[in-house]
Amino acid sequence: PGRFAGKTCVITGGASGIGLATGRRLAAEGANVVVGDLDEVRGPEVAQELGGLFVRVNVADEAEVKNLFQRAKDAYGSVDVAFNNAGINPTDDASILDTGLEAWQRVQTVNLTSVYLCSKYALEHMVEQRSGSIINTASFVALMGAATSQISYSASKGGVLSMSRELGVQFAKDGIRVNALCPGPVNTPLLQELFASDPVQAQRRLVHVPGGRFAEPEEIAAAAAFLASDDASFVNATAFTVDGGISAA
Ligand code: NAD
Repeated sequence: PGRFAGKTCVITGGASGIGLATGRRLAAEGANVVVGDLDEVRGPEVAQELGGLFVRVNVADEAEVKNLFQRAKDAYGSVDVAFNNAGINPTDDASILDTGLEAWQRVQTVNLTSVYLCSKYALEHMVEQRSGSIINTASFVALMGAATSQISYSASKGGVLSMSRELGVQFAKDGIRVNALCPGPVNTPLLQELFASDPVQAQRRLVHVPGGRFAEPEEIAAAAAFLASDDASFVNATAFTVDGGISAA
């Protein structure tokens, strides 16, 4: 039995990239994985591969998020880990001067309001259990000014980090840990799409990573699994940085 035997782990954005790699890792270590995603093609395929459950969810929709965590609880009896990871990175409007209010609000809704909703409805179950680990995916751009980042995206990730810290402090007394995971640039469809539309940006970003390469999703998944596990029993309310040193350079 692995670290997650008998544990139920809900992963949003579980159909692709970091979420997919983490689902594979947690399932390999014994977890019941619940894949929450908008993608109704890849989502069920991934859930089947992992022997888990797919729940179609738009993480920006309150009723759907509530349903996601209730379905996990109904299927497996508990909600032990919430990896609130779904997010988008806008490919256009590079400057704030070209960022319209609607585009700004869309990013806040999908990246930040979603984490508020997912944390809230995961906590409902975790407080009752008096245990749980929440991992919210922020980004290295929450820690530094990365000249290449969209302002709406950076702001949303800063919010994710602050919210995670605050929740970690507030719910420690209930036996619950909340951490923000801060990946550097990772080789996933999200980044590949961004760079396909702007190859110059890919090159600019690469030169800033001390090791001269992007992370593979499995390298982020290993850190997410650590934070999810009891190995991290005293790691709480932190910005857990897995960025190859980019934010320190
Ligand atoms: P990805 O595009 O490969 O996967 C994101 C998944 O989220 C997709 O399956 C997509 O269908 C799903 N999704 C998007 N919007 C959704 C919504 N409203 N409701 C439910 N599901 C939705 O992306 P990724 O690179 O694996 O990114 C995962 C997280 O990591 C994001 O929060 C991203 O901001 C963050 N991140 C990524 C990088 C990177 O370089 N790739 C770096 C730092 C942080």
